[in-house]
Amino acid sequence: MTAQDTLRIFYEDEEVYEPIRRSLVSVYKLDTIKSGIMRPIKSAYNVKRGQYDATHLLSYLIRNKGGDVALWVVDEDIYYEGMNFVFGLASFGEGAILSRFRLNSIELIEKEAVHEIGHVLGLNHCPNRCVMHFSNSLLEAMEKPSELCESCKRRIKNLRDNVPML
Ligand SMILES: [Zn+2]
Ligand SMILES: [Zn+2]
Repeated sequence: MTAQDTLRIFYEDEEVYEPIRRSLVSVYKLDTIKSGIMRPIKSAYNVKRGQYDATHLLSYLIRNKGGDVALWVVDEDIYYEGMNFVFGLASFGEGAILSRFRLNSIELIEKEAVHEIGHVLGLNHCPNRCVMHFSNSLLEAMEKPSELCESCKRRIKNLRDNVPML
């Protein structure tokens, strides 16, 4: 991932594109491409849980995104093995999936998009007051800020300038 990279954004509902694009431009200065509608595949659906397997959807995205890194915003509830649900799941240097099923405002959707793309760009969970703080509930997601802390800002700058770090 370098500063020239572009993020492809797929979605089920076009209305999420513009606010997410704006947030990602302001936090990461990323170029984005409006990449169109992508629907969850049936094979990722777990009938017992009534949810989609986030791992399965993420690998589908990675296989089908074309070049660049990608974000896929789905409307369905998603889960990760061992957890009741997740807001999103990311793969470093590849892409992320984000579910808006439990996110009840556009601000929260933007915040979680910034969080997942942070992982894609190489950030880990952060203990500070920071958008990279892990959130496992709606309350935690609401309480954390929508910005990166100073330490994550420095780290992302170093990662994207390709500065070697100890
Ligand atoms: Zn995370
Ligand atoms: Zn941080």
